[in-house]
Amino acid sequence: MCFILACTKYLARKNPKVFVRISHPIAVLFVILTTFFFVGLQMFYVMPQLFDVGGMMYKLGWLLAIFIMYNIFGNMVACHITNTSVESLPKDRQVPESGEEQLWHYCDICEKLMPPRSWHCILCKCCILKRDSHCLFTASCIGHNNQRYFFWCTFFMALGTGVAWATHTIATMKYFIYSDLNTDNLPPFWLIFTLILNTYTLAAPVSSVILQISALGHNGPLHDLNSDNLDIALWENFKMILGKKVLWTFLSPTVKSPLAHDGTQWKIKESDISEY
Ligand SMILES: [Zn+2]
Ligand SMILES: [Zn+2]
Repeated sequence: MCFILACTKYLARKNPKVFVRISHPIAVLFVILTTFFFVGLQMFYVMPQLFDVGGMMYKLGWLLAIFIMYNIFGNMVACHITNTSVESLPKDRQVPESGEEQLWHYCDICEKLMPPRSWHCILCKCCILKRDSHCLFTASCIGHNNQRYFFWCTFFMALGTGVAWATHTIATMKYFIYSDLNTDNLPPFWLIFTLILNTYTLAAPVSSVILQISALGHNGPLHDLNSDNLDIALWENFKMILGKKVLWTFLSPTVKSPLAHDGTQWKIKESDISEY
């Protein structure tokens, strides 16, 4: 895994333009195809083994699947189209106010002062407000303005694969429970195979959500989990990324939830000001 990550970083640095042109469509297509594959698998293969097709539980299953898919793709699109670069700020906020200069830092590539927690992305070719990382699956950087969408996108991926894994496991266990293991009533090969596939697919979004919550708990960005130089707590950090409506944003990426500030002013511990 580390080897793949190192290779990806190397290729991105070597030729950012070509890297973006090739990796973004592949990564986005991968998410779309994987999501449709698992929804199809769940609704047409696994669920019919547990519930009557046309029954209430099966219909509820479809409603849940549509809600989860809507939030995965909706938040993915919102993440991509939301501008979180320093250039998205009004012109007068792209320069420090008097007294803020010591908190801002100089970007050698953009050749101007940038707000605290923003840093340059070679793939987006600009400085990103409170930059966490560049995500290939949303084909955008994750920063102050779109972190909410990224969080919910990965959360719904984890929820979807989690629910699919749970029902998949129950469907498989049923064969063992109703079988004395001496008969032919064993789970079909494809049920076992897709359960293993589901288990592997579950790991990626779940670890991403855990990593993000851990980063919020440490008040730091994803690339520096040990950072604790921001003087706010976990819940405040959650409010900071989800906006004023906080957990209501779970319902849809269209829920309006203004952020507390424009991403340039952070309450940094006095002892750490010198680092910025
Ligand atoms: Zn820059
Ligand atoms: Zn980027």
